[in-house]
Amino acid sequence: MLSNSLVELDRAHLVHPVASWRGHEAAGVRVIASGDGATVTDTSGHRLIDGFAGLWCVNAGYGQESIVEAATRQLRTLPYATGYFGLGSEPAIRLAARLAEAAPGDLDHVFFTLGGSDAVDSTVRFVRHYWHSRGKPERDQFITLEMGYHGSSTVGAGLTALPAFHTGFGVPHDWQHRIPSHHAYRNPAGQDPAAITAASVAALRAKVKALGGPERVAAFYVEPIQGSGGVLVPPPGWMAAMRAVCAEMEILFIADEVITGFGRTGPLFACAEEGVVPDMMTTAKGLTSGYAPMGAVFLSEHVYATIADGAGQGVVGHGLTYSGHPVSAAIGLAVLDLYEGGLLENGRRAGARLMAGLQALADHPLVGDVRGRGMLAALELVTDKAAKTPLPAAAQPATRIFDRAWAQGLVLRAFPWGVIGFAPPLCCTEAEIDGILARTRAVLDETLDDPDIRAAM
Ligand code: PMP
Repeated sequence: MLSNSLVELDRAHLVHPVASWRGHEAAGVRVIASGDGATVTDTSGHRLIDGFAGLWCVNAGYGQESIVEAATRQLRTLPYATGYFGLGSEPAIRLAARLAEAAPGDLDHVFFTLGGSDAVDSTVRFVRHYWHSRGKPERDQFITLEMGYHGSSTVGAGLTALPAFHTGFGVPHDWQHRIPSHHAYRNPAGQDPAAITAASVAALRAKVKALGGPERVAAFYVEPIQGSGGVLVPPPGWMAAMRAVCAEMEILFIADEVITGFGRTGPLFACAEEGVVPDMMTTAKGLTSGYAPMGAVFLSEHVYATIADGAGQGVVGHGLTYSGHPVSAAIGLAVLDLYEGGLLENGRRAGARLMAGLQALADHPLVGDVRGRGMLAALELVTDKAAKTPLPAAAQPATRIFDRAWAQGLVLRAFPWGVIGFAPPLCCTEAEIDGILARTRAVLDETLDDPDIRAAM
C-alpha cells in the first residue's frame, strides 16, 4: 500500500536525474527503504546486493555506526557555519588538512563543494583565474576526452562528452574540445598499450596545434578511469604520458577523481598509483561515502599561489553557501578513519576477487570484454565476439539487464550500449562478491535467452 502510493506521488511530482521522463512515468519508481553493509532492501522487502554502491559512492557501505555518530554529534554541536567573512568550523579545517596530507604531491589546498559537478565547475573558474593571474587570459580553450563525464552543470555537461548530455542543451560551448578516448576494446589504434598511448599523445598535440598552439590552451581534463563512459581503463603509463605533454606545454592537467577517488581502484587516489601529480584534482562521492553531499577540489601549491598572488588583497570571487559544511566534513573525517582503519585494504582484497571472478565470465558467449581495476569494473556484451557487435537496441540492454539483475537480487549499472558496470561497496565480504558474480552469470544466461538477442546472433 505504502509503495503504491509512493509510486503515484513519484510519478506525479518527482523529476528523476538522467531518466526518460515519459519512460519513468510508465515504469514507475522502485523505492529503496533501507541499507545495511553492502545490502539494500526495497519497500516490498526484496533484498539486493548493491553492486553499484548507490551511484559509485557508498564506498563504506550502509549503516556504518561511526559515521552516523559523527554526523549526529556535529548536528547537535553546530549544524552550519559559513566559510565566508573569514569564519570556519573545526571539521572543515581538519578535513582539509587530512586530505592535503593524503593527496599526492603538493595538492595541499582544498576547496569544498556540494558534489562532483560543482567541483568541476570550480576548477574551470580556478583555471580561468590562474591564467588571468599569469597575464595570459587568451589561454581559454579546454580539452577533454570523448566518452568522458565531468558533471551535469551547464559548464560541466559541455566538458562531458556523452551525447545525451548535449542534445537539446546547447552544449558543448565553443571553448570546449575533445580528443578520442583511449578505449582499448574499440580503439582504431588497436589494443597494444604503447600504440594507444602514442595515439592519444599525438591526438592531444594535434588538437593543441589546431587551437592555435599551447598559448591558447588552458587545461586538459581526464578521469583516471572513465566511469560513465563505460569503465574505460587507460593502459599503464598513459596518464603519465599525457601529464608530461601538458607539463611541456604548460597546459594545466586536471584529474577528475570523482569516481576513482577514495579507494575505488585500490589506493586512496588513482593518480598516485600512476605516479601522477595533477595541477588540480576533483573528488566527491567516496569523500563522504554518500552519507551527505560533499565534493572537494585539490589545488597544487603553484596553482594556489598564482591565484592568491594574482588577486593580492582583492577577493577571489568564487564561493558556495555550503562549502565546507560542518556535518558533511564531520562525516568525511569519520569516513577517512574507516578507509585508513582497514576499509581500503578490504576493498583491495574484494576487488581482486571481483576482477578474477569477472575474468572467469569471459567464457560466456555474450562477454566481449572484461575490464576494470579494484572495485571498479565492467563487462562489455556483444552478440559476435570476433566482430565485437554491440547488443541490438531492440533488446533494450539498459532496462532489461537492470530488471533481470534486480529480480536476481543484485543492483548493477546497465549502460544502453550493452556494458554492465560494477562498483560495489569496499566493505563487501567474499560471500557478497561471490553473490555478485553468481547473479551476474544468471543475468547473462537470461540475456542470452532473450529472443531479441538470439535474433541478432
Ligand atoms: N565527474 C565525474 C568523473 C563523475 O563521475 C561525476 C558523477 N558521476 C561527476 C563529475 C559529477 O558529480 P555529481 O553527480 O556529484 O555532480
